[in-house]
Amino acid sequence: MTIGLLKGVNKSGHKGWTTEKCAICGTTLDFVSGYEAKNIYYCPRCVSQGLKAYFCSADARVLHYKCPYCKGELKPYYA
Ligand SMILES: [Zn+2]
Ligand SMILES: [Zn+2]
Repeated sequence: MTIGLLKGVNKSGHKGWTTEKCAICGTTLDFVSGYEAKNIYYCPRCVSQGLKAYFCSADARVLHYKCPYCKGELKPYYA
């Protein structure tokens, strides 16, 4: 089980979900698989406001780790 990894998820109110779509390319981001989860980036500000501001690592790099919505800094989901 990866309960420990999911601790950070609870604060967003999405307890129990395991995947999201990259906001740019629509690829499925798997929050459970340890390998894939390391490649997930998100914008804490937008996510806290209910936006699905999740990005795959490739798009995060293209965006220079800046959120396309609020221009905030993208964070790795599991830092
Ligand atoms: Zn993407
Ligand atoms: Zn943002």
